[in-house]
Amino acid sequence: MILEKYSIGIGDRFAHQGKAQLDALIKAKAQGVFIVPVWNKSYREHTIIKSVPADTRNEADEAVNAVGWKDAYYVDADHIGLKNVGDFMESSDFFTLDVADFISEISEERELHEFIKKQVKYVGIFDIPGIDESFQITVEMVEKTARKFLYAIKEAGKIYRHIESVKGKDAFVTEVSVDESNEPQTPVELFFILSAVAEEGIPAQTIAPKFTGRFNKGVDYVGDLQQFTKEFEEDIAIINFAIKEFSLPANLKLSIHSGSDKFSIYPPIRKALQKFDTGLHLKTAGTTWLEELIGLAMAGGDGLDIVKEVYKKAYFRFEELCKPYAAVIDINKDRLPSPEAVGRWDEGTYASTLRHDQKCELYNSNFRQLLHIGYKIAAEMVNRYLDGLVKHEKVIAQNVTENIYERHLKPIFIGE
Ligand SMILES: [Zn+2]
Repeated sequence: MILEKYSIGIGDRFAHQGKAQLDALIKAKAQGVFIVPVWNKSYREHTIIKSVPADTRNEADEAVNAVGWKDAYYVDADHIGLKNVGDFMESSDFFTLDVADFISEISEERELHEFIKKQVKYVGIFDIPGIDESFQITVEMVEKTARKFLYAIKEAGKIYRHIESVKGKDAFVTEVSVDESNEPQTPVELFFILSAVAEEGIPAQTIAPKFTGRFNKGVDYVGDLQQFTKEFEEDIAIINFAIKEFSLPANLKLSIHSGSDKFSIYPPIRKALQKFDTGLHLKTAGTTWLEELIGLAMAGGDGLDIVKEVYKKAYFRFEELCKPYAAVIDINKDRLPSPEAVGRWDEGTYASTLRHDQKCELYNSNFRQLLHIGYKIAAEMVNRYLDGLVKHEKVIAQNVTENIYERHLKPIFIGE
């Protein structure tokens, strides 16, 4: 199973927007740009919503049949580990092995030395095609990187082999993710991580490092754009070099766990993809759930009532909702509108305050982030929310499709 050059992790919290999401990819295909969908959902999300991985598989299959999508599509067990991969085994054909929690765990000295010994040949001045500057690699760097990452990658090896023992070789796509770690990885660290991935025999087709800057949920990138661009391009060059050097899968590419909507890094990403003629996997899953809220708001009446209630409850359960996402949100509580004020809003005000249009005066990134992590509230409404999705399907679908196509696919894969 070989993942295509361009792929997008669209997710779908409540499993109702598969068709609308596919419509965006069909529009891109009509423009000559082929991007395959990956419905990714993490264990954390399933737990909060009380859904099961089979739901995601059913949604994907149904959506694909309904719109007549003849190309590949995938269901990603996102951010799984040995403890919870079992639940995903049957329904997934894409596995994101998350080993960020194992970074800096202590490896066996013997294993460490074995690994370091094999890397010693890279010590010294080290040039990588596509990167102007030379890297200066010291023995200390090799050892430090090995101590930081070897244990984690060995853990990824264990998870990989476990999945392989059940599903069979080449029957699924493997991603290795270290994006939910405390510090970004440098390109040199990525190089040795890939070396360890190859040593473990993991046929990784995507790798998700942590990049410099803040990737808060649902809102734009916060950080040094120039630094990001440099790192991103260096990472691509490193991957291309590592593919040959370590005999990794030829289609190995970067996976960006964007946390949704990192619009300001899209132009440099596009430039880099063209410069290196390389692929990308972009995860931007949560954005669709916010379009559901926008669609419901625009529908007015009972739709607007639902989204006002979601906000009100999210506002009063702020601490609880923020807890699992503390590392990836920056919400200024003082900038949140009061539920009373929101209660008086009309459909346009709610939609414009939430919609990710930074040029719009009403747009409020604090409001947006809180709702991004507030899907638990909608899940608790059960049928009232899901019935709303069905009743107002048309206006929601328009927003979902337009959002993915105009704000995500176009700037990265198609160009203005
Ligand atoms: Zn991630």
